[in-house]
Amino acid sequence: MRYISTRGTAPTLGFDDVLLTGLARDGGLYVPESWPCFSAEDLRALQGKSYADLATAVMGPFLAGSIVLDDFPRIVRETYADFDHAAVTPLKQLDADLWLLELFHGPTLAFKDVALQLLGRLFDAVLAHRQRRLTIVGATSGDTGSAALEACRNRANLDIFILFPKGRTSEVQRRQMTTIAAENAHAIAVEGTFDDCQDLVKALFADEPFRDEFGLSAVNSINWARIMAQIVYYFVAALALGAPDRRVSFAVPTGNFGNVYAAYAARQMGLPIQRLQVASNRNDILARFFEGGEMRIGAVEPSLSPSMDIQVSSNFERLLFDLTGGNGAEVTALMTAFRRDGLYSLNAQRLAQVAQVFSGFRLDDPGTIAEIRATRAATGEVLDPHSAVGVAAARALAQAGVATVSLACAHPAKFPDAVEEATGHRPELPERLADLYQRPERMAELPNDLEALRRFVRDHAKGLTAV
Ligand SMILES: *Cc1c(COP(=O)(O)O)cnc(C)c1O
Repeated sequence: MRYISTRGTAPTLGFDDVLLTGLARDGGLYVPESWPCFSAEDLRALQGKSYADLATAVMGPFLAGSIVLDDFPRIVRETYADFDHAAVTPLKQLDADLWLLELFHGPTLAFKDVALQLLGRLFDAVLAHRQRRLTIVGATSGDTGSAALEACRNRANLDIFILFPKGRTSEVQRRQMTTIAAENAHAIAVEGTFDDCQDLVKALFADEPFRDEFGLSAVNSINWARIMAQIVYYFVAALALGAPDRRVSFAVPTGNFGNVYAAYAARQMGLPIQRLQVASNRNDILARFFEGGEMRIGAVEPSLSPSMDIQVSSNFERLLFDLTGGNGAEVTALMTAFRRDGLYSLNAQRLAQVAQVFSGFRLDDPGTIAEIRATRAATGEVLDPHSAVGVAAARALAQAGVATVSLACAHPAKFPDAVEEATGHRPELPERLADLYQRPERMAELPNDLEALRRFVRDHAKGLTAV
C-alpha cells in the first residue's frame, strides 16, 4: 500500500515510513492511495472472529509491503491480550436500539490505548529491522500523554519525552504519567500552559540538526497508523450487531476528528454505516460547520470533557481531501485560508455531500451532567463526561430499525469529580490502577525554555544507533 499527502507535494511513502514520519513534509497528512474494499460476503466471513483475528484481517491490506507484515498477526495478538476485557472493546446495550462500545479497557483507561498500544509495538518492530532508534517527543493536556508513555515504555528502540503543563492536569492524569517507571519514558512538568508545551515541542522539531541527531518523531493523532487501528472497532461493533444485514450508525465524541474519521474510513471500506453523529461539547466548531458549511475558529473554553476542548480538528483535513476528489492544491488553499483568517467554507454541493453521512451535535456541561445522571438511573451504567456527550448525540440520532452505537472513550474513574457531581458516587479505579495514589511519582520539572528542553533530551535520549 502506498500513502499520499493531503497537500499533494510530499513524496509517496509505504506503510513503514508513514508510521515513522507522522506529518508529511508538505505539512499535509498521509492517507492511503486507495481504500481496501470488503464486500458483503467478505464481511459475513469475518463474523464471529476474535478481536485480534478481525483486527489482523481489517488492517492487513494497509500493511501490504511492510517489513513487519509477517510479524503483524503476532504483534496484534500481543497488543490486545494486554486489555482488561476478553472482548477488548465490549458492547453494552442501553436501550432498544442503542448500544455503548466500551473502548477504555486498556492500560490507561481511554480509547487512545487501542491505537497507541499497537503503535508502540509497530515502531519498535520496524526500527529493529532497520537497526535504528527514535526519540518520541510530544505535548499533552491530559489523556494522550499517559497513553503514549505507556505504549512506548520499555521498548528497546524508543525513548519518549512527554511535556505537560505543571499543575494544570487532573491528579489522575498527572499520576498516570508520573508513575510509569521506565528508564526510557520521561514525564516532564513544564512551568507554563498546554500551548507553551506545544510551542516547545514545535520549536524542537523545527531545529533540523537536533531533529536529525536524535531522530525526533511523534505519535500524535495525525499519525496514519492510529487511524488505522481505530477502524477496527467499527467493524467489530457493526458485525456483532448484524452487519452487513443490518444498518448501523455511530455517535462519536470528537476533538481532533481522528476517531470519527476512522469511522468514515470504515465506511469507505464497505462497512454499511448509515450515519455518523459528530458529538462536541461547548467547543462546537464542528457542530457549527455541519449546520452551515462554515469552519470558523473560536476561543477554546474549558468544559467537563477536556479531551474535546479543541477548536482546530486536524484530522478533518483528511476528509477534505476526499471531498475535493483528492485535490492537494485545493486542500492546501483551504488550509492556508484557515490559518490566515480562521475561516473557510464549503460550497452547497460539497456540504450536501458531507450531510449524507455526517451531522453535528453539541452538549453543554449541565446537559452532560444530566445525561450521566439519566443513563445511570435508567440502565445502571456510569458514563464519563466524554461518553455522556456521545450518548446524548446517539439519542438525538436514533432512527427506528437502525442500531445506534455510542463510543465510550474513557473510564468514568478518569473524571471522578464530574461523575460524582452527577451521581453522588465517586467511581473507583479498576484493579490495574487501584493503587495509583500509593505509587511513587517520578517526573522532571523544566522552565518554559527551549534550551532547557534541548539539554534534557540530550542528556537522556540514547540517540539513533540501535543497541
Ligand atoms: C482524545 C479523546 C477524545 C477525542 O478524540 P479525537 O480522536 O481527538 O476526536 C474524546 N474523548 C476522550 C476521552 C479522549 O481521550
